[in-house]
Amino acid sequence: ATDFDLAAVRADFPVLSQTVQDRPLVYLDSAATSQKPQVVLDAEIDFLTRANSAVHRGAHTLAGEATLLFEDARESVAGFVGARPEQLVWTSGATAALNLVAYSIGNATLGRGAPESARFALAPGDEIVTTEAEHHADLIPWQELAARTGATLRHIPIRDDGTLDLDAAARVITDRTRVVAFTHVSNVLGIVNPVAELVALAREMGALTVLDACQSVPHLPFDFTALGVDLAAFSGHKMLGPYGIGGLLGRPEVLDALPPFLTGGSMVTTVTLDEAGFLPAPQKFEAGTQPVSQAIGLAAATRYLSALGMDAVAAHERRLAERMLSGLRGIDGVRVIGDASGVDRVGIASFEVAGVHAHDVGQFLDDRGVAVRVGHHCAKPLHARFGLTASVRASASVFTTNDDVDVFLDAVSGVRPFFGVSS
Ligand code: PMP
Repeated sequence: ATDFDLAAVRADFPVLSQTVQDRPLVYLDSAATSQKPQVVLDAEIDFLTRANSAVHRGAHTLAGEATLLFEDARESVAGFVGARPEQLVWTSGATAALNLVAYSIGNATLGRGAPESARFALAPGDEIVTTEAEHHADLIPWQELAARTGATLRHIPIRDDGTLDLDAAARVITDRTRVVAFTHVSNVLGIVNPVAELVALAREMGALTVLDACQSVPHLPFDFTALGVDLAAFSGHKMLGPYGIGGLLGRPEVLDALPPFLTGGSMVTTVTLDEAGFLPAPQKFEAGTQPVSQAIGLAAATRYLSALGMDAVAAHERRLAERMLSGLRGIDGVRVIGDASGVDRVGIASFEVAGVHAHDVGQFLDDRGVAVRVGHHCAKPLHARFGLTASVRASASVFTTNDDVDVFLDAVSGVRPFFGVSS
């Protein structure tokens, strides 16, 4: 049984009370974007109606209150992920956070930034390591950085059962490795990667570690400091929060040494016509007007998740994952991608239905009120590794019930008969 009141949780999400195609909505697309509880919507609306103002400037009362609320939000969200407020840089999402890191390393390579940033500079012969399971947001910025600096990109392979090949990782990560960027949880496989082992391999070689925590922060207890990575990126809209907000977490000495990426207002000390000095992190990385109402909404989301308890959330979603996976395994013609058993997981299951295109499966499920994701889920190389161009992905959240999963499984078992495909 779930450790929180599931009926009460469902009542907190206004979007769930509707019907789709005359059926109750079964929302199994939280890995793409989560739904938002009323407290998050209220937090944003309340700020916008009562205290809206630009932060960190202006002598007026509202500006002061907005600044307090904005910095309180930083404290709440940083606390939720096991970091101190000054270790959290607001970004528009994980994509922006990962690009920030890649461009900052590029700037260090160009000799921009304080002397201590030289340790991040890349040269031909240096290597950047990612995995075969990365979301494009944690792949393409590294491809671009490699192209700009002459560094080489290498990949840790994924085994047939969806787990990361740690033996291969020990061969791929060498003394040429300068950056190891990897996902905590793949948005396709749902399997939790061995962060401690990868950090140990990278640290032994003196490489910087960058964690894509998009699919872990919303679904399991996340402690940035305990994980030991140098940097981590996450998105607010996947963790019951608003769009347009996310974060980069960093070890203080790493954030201090990395040069800025975006430059402009609000991140400077002195400015002349020829040059500028920069504020310490996190402000150094927060050029321009910040997403204030979104930060306040995200803080409300973290308070909501904390009240449920992340251990309870993780256990709930792991049970749902097992229910999805064992159900899918029993359906004729269904192949689960990343079918490893006995591994730590979040509530994500991706699969193909033999003889039926993923898009047809998605349409068929939608006709039954079930919202899933179809396509490559921004992980084309991972799909290619499994011989696929597309898959169907079901993903759970705090409000997902066993009934949701059963409606979904029942619908999936109807796919092949409906399309007249037999074994
Ligand atoms: N990494 C992973 C693992 C993701 O699932 C996503 C979102 N699908 C991203 C990165 C990118 O996040 P965003 O689009 O919110 O920037």
